[in-house]
Amino acid sequence: MSHAILSPSGASRWLNCTPSACLEQQFPDSSGEAAKEGTLAHWLGETLLKNHLGLLTNIEANETIERIESDPRYTADMMDHASGYAAFVMENFEAAKKVTKDAVIQIEAQLNLTDYVPEGFGTGDAVIIADGNMGIIDLKYGKGVMVSCENNKQMMLYALGALREYDYMYDIQNVRMWIYQPRMDNISSFEMSVADLQAWAENELKPLAQLAFDGLGEFKVGDHCRFCRAKAQCKANANENLKLARYDFAESVLLTDTEISDILERASAFKTWLTSIEEMALTEAVDNGKQWPGFKLVEGRSNRIYSDEDKVAKELVKNGFNEDQIYTKKILGITAMEKAITKKTFESLLGELIIKPQGKPTLVPVSDKRTAWNSTESAKNDFSNN
Ligand code: SF4
Repeated sequence: MSHAILSPSGASRWLNCTPSACLEQQFPDSSGEAAKEGTLAHWLGETLLKNHLGLLTNIEANETIERIESDPRYTADMMDHASGYAAFVMENFEAAKKVTKDAVIQIEAQLNLTDYVPEGFGTGDAVIIADGNMGIIDLKYGKGVMVSCENNKQMMLYALGALREYDYMYDIQNVRMWIYQPRMDNISSFEMSVADLQAWAENELKPLAQLAFDGLGEFKVGDHCRFCRAKAQCKANANENLKLARYDFAESVLLTDTEISDILERASAFKTWLTSIEEMALTEAVDNGKQWPGFKLVEGRSNRIYSDEDKVAKELVKNGFNEDQIYTKKILGITAMEKAITKKTFESLLGELIIKPQGKPTLVPVSDKRTAWNSTESAKNDFSNN
């Protein structure tokens, strides 16, 4: 299936910055590996669910799982996460059946969004319908950014698509949405009345989607730029970031506290923007031979490596060195160990042997959810521990 210009996954971006949808089309999608890994995890989750629901026999499910396991992106962790997702969906389906005996569930439901979004379509991972209520669950396999379901535009679009499919059969009044993001231990939910959802769709979504589809509207910079394919070349994004360089400093020799706070506030977005330009320029130079004025492509520094570790070891043993001299033995790190023995086994065998040392002090905006670091308290603790 081709990719919609106004894809639900990009909705928070194109609703905020309507011209981004058309502008993005000229840039390649660089989500490659992560997207393929996510697709594989979804396929596994879908297979497990269909097997639980009797839509796939054990033989069919096992054949599919074997194919999934033969993909180099597959890990034991993936099975844990997909099983957790399937169990979560089944739990909610069972709960719906307690309320409505003939509740129904759709897995990988194809959703038509064209009532509100030109050429819009999407896929609902799991849609549960019971009398008066509809539930939509979305599996997110990303581990970089925690995704909240609250007012999540992608989920609201899915809800509209699912309503279009099922509202004529079931008088749905209320929609509950869940994001299940196992690699961040995140389950987030959000509930909305159908009346509020439809009011948002008519008054906000529909006009903005049309603007976005036509490539019109104003460029608007914000958090949503992080996932925009145009972010490295977009002038609005550059102008916003370069405002820091044009900062109107007070007339003093040293930066004031307020000026430093202002710079800190912009530092993260500024670094992200600089990195996106460096990455884009390098990719263009390497992949497409692009010449950037004043720059050239050179070979980076590298360290010596053994061409064949087995041959190295054999040569040394042959010449009288023993294995203790030539090998080091090191236990796997925590993430690698979780991958090797699965998270569940890790928890049950090693849970009590894991400690979390105190983190280094970090400056974050006051809006951050973590409790403020108490340097006096910490110094007292250090003192009493000595
Ligand atoms: S980088 Fe930001 S401002 Fe520029 S097009 Fe993309 S979303 Fe819009």
